[in-house]
Amino acid sequence: MPDGDELDDDARDYHRSPTPGKVEIATTKPTSSQAELSLAYSPGVAAPCRAIADDPDDAYAYTAKGNLVGVVSNGSAVLGLGDIGAQASKPVMEGKGVLFKRFADIDVFDVELDTPDVDEFVETVAAMEPTFGGVNLEDIKAPECFEIERRLREEMSVPVFHDDQHGTAIISGAALLNATDILGKDVEDLQVAFSGAGAAATATAEFYTHLGIPPANITMCDIDGILTPDRDDLNDRTRRFAAGTEGGDLADAIEGADVLVGLSVGGIVSQEMVQSMAENPIIFAMANPDPEIGYEAAKSARDDTVVMATGRSDYPNQVNNVLGFPFIFRGALDVRATEINEAMKVAAAEALADLARQDVPDAVVKAYGDQPLQFGPEYIIPKPLDPRVLLEVAPAVAGAAMDSGVARNEADLDAYARRLEA
Ligand code: NAP
Ligand code: MG
Repeated sequence: MPDGDELDDDARDYHRSPTPGKVEIATTKPTSSQAELSLAYSPGVAAPCRAIADDPDDAYAYTAKGNLVGVVSNGSAVLGLGDIGAQASKPVMEGKGVLFKRFADIDVFDVELDTPDVDEFVETVAAMEPTFGGVNLEDIKAPECFEIERRLREEMSVPVFHDDQHGTAIISGAALLNATDILGKDVEDLQVAFSGAGAAATATAEFYTHLGIPPANITMCDIDGILTPDRDDLNDRTRRFAAGTEGGDLADAIEGADVLVGLSVGGIVSQEMVQSMAENPIIFAMANPDPEIGYEAAKSARDDTVVMATGRSDYPNQVNNVLGFPFIFRGALDVRATEINEAMKVAAAEALADLARQDVPDAVVKAYGDQPLQFGPEYIIPKPLDPRVLLEVAPAVAGAAMDSGVARNEADLDAYARRLEA
């Protein structure tokens, strides 16, 4: 890995040349003759227009809508860069498009909206529904992101998914299912401490309840310590995790816990705190770029088994959102789901967890530098470059969409999986 300055130089070159940016539009139909151009545009184009005017669903037959996702941001919470604005967020949104294309062959229009205003944002995106088969909200700051997603989900009949919230929840949820299994614990009995009570932490805690963790077993801390019912700064998202908790600081929350979920800031968890956890603890320290506690520090703090995950690629068990959004949207688009609901998210997490228990093909092991990838404490989630992730997660999500009644198209899941493989 090049050092910081070198990486910056490389990255600017990568983005600048030979063509500025990372994406272009390609045509999918022949355009070499006058006759073909008259089909592509006037006068031929009138026929599909009339068909769609008669039946809006024909947009999926005659346009690219069904494979097109809008990656929409206002640039208000970009990576670790903060509120850098819509224009400066464009490389990130183009990059998200690159990942959608590379991992799931989904086309993306990146849309950067120059507004901090929730109403304006919601109205603008809702008005773009004819363009897109789905909307991935990206890098929008809390608390605005919650209202934006809620209102757009209500108003739009295509899937709307805020990846910064749900991606982490789903991928770390898969890791949690497997860590629990490896350590012989029961999900319903886990005591879970959260460091952080922000966008990612509240979405993750909420999702864990759908995986079977009782809300009463979750203790959540922000910068002022444990959330308790008497605090006057609770909101709709944090209140249920404050119920029944006694006050204290982060160390109090971690003491005796089976699971520590860090979605806060780097370096705030000590080895002593890790030592105070229950036997064979699970530690997901996901603050980026520096985790709440480092991998070696957490592992070496105790003699029993510590199952550890971070957001970093240089340690085992990277919680990487690219394991989720391309495949979740793939499955949702392919059955024309009207939304991405909890059942679909749970199905994605379970499919990821199942896949990590299978033997890993040699080609995947090679792609990751020949480190042993075998189900166990150092391998609880699949690797993004494993081609089986698409084949497992997309059909699982499509199936859950059908079962939960939000799919507008039925699919034969076996045939669908074979088609994805081809
Ligand atoms: P956010 O909405 O700003 O939330 C941050 C939370 O951390 C807030 O609740 C904040 O408390 C709390 N916090 C700050 N300092 C703390 C301290 N010393 N002790 C306890 N809590 C503290 O940010 P976010 O979007 O949820 O992201 C949080 C972190 O998770 C970031 O580091 C982000 O990079 C990481 N993340 C990782 C992944 C991944 O690995 N895949 C995905 C998403 C996010 P106050 O509200 O009191 O300030
Ligand atoms: Mg993001």
